[in-house]
Formats: sequence, C-alpha cells, structure tokens
Amino acid sequence: MKTGLVIFRNDLRIHDNETLVRAIEFSDVLIPIFVLPKLDIHTHIPHPRRSNFRIKFLLESISDLDQSLRRMGSQLIIRTGDLEQIVPELCLEHSIDMVFFSQLACWEETTEEQSIQSILDKIGISYRSYHTSTLVHPADLPFPLEELPPVFTHFRKAVESNEPLAVALPKKGRCPSLPAGIESESIPLEFITLANSVEEHYHSAVAWKGGEQEGIKQLTEYLWITDRIQTYKETRNQLIGKDFSSKFSAYLSLGCISARLIYQQVKAYEKERVANESSYWLIFELLWRDYFFFIAKKHGRNLFQFSGIQQKSSLLQDKQAKDLQSFDKWRLGETEDDFVNANMKELLLTGYMSNRGRQNVASYLVHNLGLDWRMGAEWFETMLIDFDPASNYGNWNYVAGIGNDPRSRIFNTVKQANDYDPLGEYRRLWLG
Ligand SMILES: Cc1cc2nc3c(=O)[nH]c(=O)nc-3n(C[C@H](O)[C@H](O)[C@H](O)COP(=O)(O)OP(=O)(O)OC[C@H]3O[C@@H](n4cnc5c(N)ncnc54)[C@H](O)[C@@H]3O)c2cc1C
Repeated sequence: MKTGLVIFRNDLRIHDNETLVRAIEFSDVLIPIFVLPKLDIHTHIPHPRRSNFRIKFLLESISDLDQSLRRMGSQLIIRTGDLEQIVPELCLEHSIDMVFFSQLACWEETTEEQSIQSILDKIGISYRSYHTSTLVHPADLPFPLEELPPVFTHFRKAVESNEPLAVALPKKGRCPSLPAGIESESIPLEFITLANSVEEHYHSAVAWKGGEQEGIKQLTEYLWITDRIQTYKETRNQLIGKDFSSKFSAYLSLGCISARLIYQQVKAYEKERVANESSYWLIFELLWRDYFFFIAKKHGRNLFQFSGIQQKSSLLQDKQAKDLQSFDKWRLGETEDDFVNANMKELLLTGYMSNRGRQNVASYLVHNLGLDWRMGAEWFETMLIDFDPASNYGNWNYVAGIGNDPRSRIFNTVKQANDYDPLGEYRRLWLG
C-alpha cells in the first residue's frame, strides 16, 4: 500500500492540476495539506505582508478546495507553522512513500522547495514536483531558461508559434482516503478575525470571493454569459466597473483557475462565437504573466533587490529614498496628484486597482516622489487581492526602469488622467 502527501501551494484547484493528478494516481492513501502563511511584516515598510482582503480571499479559496476534496472522498488538512517542519513530521508519522508539490517561480518559494527537498533527501523520502502555473510549460520553451529573451515581444513570438500552447489535464473523480487518525487544525482566530473585518465598499465594482468554483464562474461569465471578451482590447484600459477587464487575476494568483483552462475556453469561444483582436489580446496578456514567471525563475533574488534584474542601480535616480512620510501620503491617497490619489484610495478600500492605475501610481512613486520602488511593491503585495510575486515585482522592475527592456517608463499622470478619465468620473468616485 502506498501513502502519498500532496502539498497545495498556489494551485488551489482540482482541475488541470498535475500535482494532484499524479498524487492520486500514485497513492492508495493520500494526505492533501495546506500550510497557512505566516502573518509577517515587510522589510522596507512597517506593514503586514497580507491585508485582510488577501486573507479573506485565501480562506475562501481553501474552504472551496476542502469542499471539492470532500466530494472526492477526502478533505484538506490545514496546518500552521513551518512547511519545512510540518512535512517531515507528517512523513514520519504516516510512513509517507512520496511527497508531491508544485514548483513556483520566485526566490522565496523556490528556496522553500529546495529546503523541503533537502530535508526529504535526508530522511530518505522520495518526492515529485510539477509545473502547474503557466500557459507555456517550461519544458515547451523553445530556448533554455538562461536564454529567455530580454524583450517580451521576442518571447511572445517564439512561444506563440507552438500552437496549441498547452493542454489542460482532466480532473480525477475520486481521491484516495486519508490515513486513520489524521485531523485538520482549525483556522487560527487571527486569520478569521482579519477575514471578517473586510467590508465590501459601496463603490467596489467586484464582490470578490475566492475559490475554484468562483473562478470558473467568472470565466464563464466573462466569456459565455456577457461576451465581454469581444471588446476586451478596447475596454481594458478603463478604470470603473467590473467588466472592462476579465478580473481573472485574483483566481490565477492562488491557482483557483489555471491559465490553460482560460486558454482552452478562449479557443472554444473563438470557434463557437467570435475570434477577434480582443479574444487574442486576452491570451497576449496571459503571456505577459508567463513572461514575468520565467523572468522570476531566471533572475532569482535579483528581482527583489534595489537594482532589479538589470543589477544597475545607476539606472535609478540618485534620490531614491525611504521617506516613510512621503510613502504614507502615497499609500493613503494624499499626494498632490488627484489621479494617483483616486487609484490609491480604490486600492486601500477594495484591494484592487486597474492595470492603468497600477502603472500610473507606480511611476509616480518612483519618478515623481523619488522613493525606493520596493516600498511601493511591498504595499502592492500587502493590498492586492491578486498579488502574484512574479507579476508584481516584474512589473515594478519594469516601471522603475531596471527590469526587462529598461527604457524610460515615466508616466505623465496629468496627461493620463485627461486621456483615461476625461470627465473626472473616476476621481469623483473615489475622492468624493
Ligand atoms: C506595478 C504593477 C503591479 C502589478 N502587480 C500584479 C500582481 O501582483 N498580480 C497580478 O496578477 N498582476 C499584477 N499586475 C498586472 C495587471 O495590472 C493585473 O494582472 C491586472 O490589472 C488584473 O486585472 P484583470 O485580471 O482584470 O486583467 P486583464 O486585463 O483581464 O488581463 C488578463 C490576465 O492577464 C494577466 N495580465 C494582464 N496584464 C498583466 C501584466 N502587466 N503583467 C502580468 N500579467 C498580466 C493577468 O493574469 C490577468 O488576469 C501589475 C501591474 C503593474 C503595473
């Protein structure tokens, strides 16, 4: 009889999840676990790394996964603490034969993977890890990771010729049962208190709810029910409402939906309804997400350092400072720029901001306020309901001019406000 342990990370779903599929195939008895993250504080700003918005979305997502696993005859075992300690303990207690987990992109997560692997090597337990996050599987890259093109367009053209980009895996109907005697820990009170403290703001266009079912619902709605995908290219730079962009990001960030499922649905939509520039553009944007994933994998810790993946701090202004007062004005939407302020208020009150907004406020922090970009990136990490380390730090590197394609990314926020909020509706919405 074989006993498996599957660690859920940023792959909180049962569809298109190779890690889970392989674990189910291998095991007669299987423990699915999720270890809650620590509620720790950032390095460059005195704020927690996860806001109540993020905690609520996470708890909803793991609860949905638990329900799915129960329907399959199992359940999610929750633990708190260090993965590096919990995994070997479970392995020894339940005589685990094989540990399964997904591979992530960024330095902190890959370091965690390495340390789990080295502990498992020491105690003589085998493991297998899979890649479940991107549209393009790393094995299908037409170049070695070290030769990842420094410019997105070159990357896109190289991978786009590999049609179809990827195939989503079917899900399994049943999950092997748990070993006798194992129980899930209850969610700590501080997590529940944080999640319960979220109040939906009356101007918020999206009632975010985490989980695979909600993610699939959003996918169905954006494509098949509202047909909004047909106008994505024209609307994606707007600022107000739910439908101007897909709102898939939060579900993608925790892996509640897979990029490959989105791709397959878009292809089916193109076949059955309309294939146009907009439907193509959604895939184009998902390739940006992939690109940042591979950038993170290639550049490791540098992505998070002041001099970024270029490793050239000379590309930044000399005055990049860690002025917390100035940062607080930016964070709370109290700068001299009302377009920046409106966007920062939306983020503070809802945990979301449009892509157009993100580019402007990031540029303003780096180039107008002259602050250390990592302060802004960390605040985004705290607040964004769709926080994804590779996309967030990749985009911040890009805007700060130390990322891929280090051309100047300075946004004229006054011009941008005139172009994208000509009647001032967006600013009135958030600033009153
Ligand atoms: C400074 C800055 C920080 C950002 N931080 C994050 C982050 O933490 N998490 C995150 O998911 N996105 C981040 N983005 C990218 C982008 O703003 C969001 O993905 C997008 O606004 C999410 O809304 P949506 O799902 O409706 O996007 P849509 O416009 O509908 O796009 C569809 C999908 O494509 C991907 N995508 C679109 N634009 C980008 C992009 N520029 N980079 C990477 N992927 C993209 C996302 O997965 C998104 O869900 C950041 C952008 C900037 C400028």
